[in-house]
Amino acid sequence: MSAREVDYLLIGGGLASANCARWLREEGADGPVVLVGRELDAPYNRPDCSKGYLRGEETREEPLFRPAEWWKEQDIELLTRTTVTGLDPASSTATLSDKQEIHFKRALLATGANVRVLNVEGCELDHIYYLRTLGNADAIRAGVQDAEEVVMIGGSYIGCEVAASLTMLGKRCSIVMQEEVTLERGFGRQAGLFFQGLLEEHGVQIHPSDELARFEGDGRVGKVVTKNGRELPAQAVVVGAGVTPELTLARGAGLEIGERGGVRCSSRLESSAPGIFAAGDICEYESVVHGGARLRIEHWDVAFNQGETAALNMLGRDVPHEVVPYFFSDLGDWGGLEYVGPAQGWHEEIVRGSAEEGSFTTWYLHDGKVAAALTVGRSDDLEHARRLLAAGVQLDGDARGKLADPDGDLADLG
Ligand SMILES: Cc1cc2nc3c(=O)[nH]c(=O)nc-3n(C[C@H](O)[C@H](O)[C@H](O)COP(=O)(O)OP(=O)(O)OC[C@H]3O[C@@H](n4cnc5c(N)ncnc54)[C@H](O)[C@@H]3O)c2cc1C
Repeated sequence: MSAREVDYLLIGGGLASANCARWLREEGADGPVVLVGRELDAPYNRPDCSKGYLRGEETREEPLFRPAEWWKEQDIELLTRTTVTGLDPASSTATLSDKQEIHFKRALLATGANVRVLNVEGCELDHIYYLRTLGNADAIRAGVQDAEEVVMIGGSYIGCEVAASLTMLGKRCSIVMQEEVTLERGFGRQAGLFFQGLLEEHGVQIHPSDELARFEGDGRVGKVVTKNGRELPAQAVVVGAGVTPELTLARGAGLEIGERGGVRCSSRLESSAPGIFAAGDICEYESVVHGGARLRIEHWDVAFNQGETAALNMLGRDVPHEVVPYFFSDLGDWGGLEYVGPAQGWHEEIVRGSAEEGSFTTWYLHDGKVAAALTVGRSDDLEHARRLLAAGVQLDGDARGKLADPDGDLADLG
């Protein structure tokens, strides 16, 4: 069979691909655009999977990136339930699971990430779940229906969000985690304690500084046993132990892999193969707003914005990806956070406002400069954080005082 010709082939059916398709059309691409995704659903917003959709508050359509008719209106060919099985940069062709061969002018690789699966004794038991897709969320919602106690493995944002959602559904939830404090790896102790407090106030039991040893049960999981010897009854378990980038195609195509485990890209998001770009969870790029540091970030807003930057560069605009990475997480109506950064490390935390009153911003300073900021209920601070971070402003004692003062004017800093 001879290869079909398309202008733009977008590999991966997630947010980064979807937003790339949108921007290709918005910026004038009028030739064939094909988006290939292996999931059942058209591209959707994954954050809903641990929040409103998991709680049954949203229909299957609500998380969709765009309604079904939009793809037709835009004349973008959307191939769901289809996997790209091979990619050959030398001939600019891709092979699909339906045996089609596609020859492209430009391609985007946005294959996302896969959950890290824990291989411990008892891991084959029923009612042990992982969460990445809408289908996984359906399975969890159905699987916890007759469960009283659900144990989350992992104290990062998936574990925390799912614990909150399932508590709202009336389940008794607990979290087993290696960290001393929830979310501490990314956000530090103070902010982590705030979120842990919210979870505990609502009845979630936290088991810190511990690790899963094995699952026990008879067909269905009945108990989680930890390395410290805790035995936690559980009729269902949700594991949130991180993800690994899906690099099967990238490796097969011989694309360069970076030190952060992603597809190594330039600041223009172009991979080591000219004409093949990457975006989203797999993209390891040179960040101009971080002085050229290499970053790979697994967050919604980054996938969204990189989709746009990739589209512009696929159209030959030659623009660097200059958006300061942003992240959000929420525990339903108990509270939520927003964050810009990411800080690779920090020497100092300055708190503005009051965690007790549920309205504060934590500034993370590295060598006297803002490396990141996390905010609860003070979104306006984020604009200043973005500006200070991108400009690399050195902050003296006076400036630090302003950062700490809830009413301090930040507009003239930097
Ligand atoms: C439950 C959950 C909650 C989240 N909540 C938040 C949040 O609150 N805030 C936040 O900032 N971020 C959140 N995230 C992270 C965010 O959703 C991801 O960073 C984002 O979805 C990444 O988009 P992507 O397009 O790179 O990859 P993905 O969304 O993973 O999409 C990649 C797609 O490509 C498909 N694919 C892979 N290989 C192939 C192939 N060879 N051929 C065809 N298709 C292929 C995959 O099946 C997948 O559908 C959450 C993620 C999850 C799972």
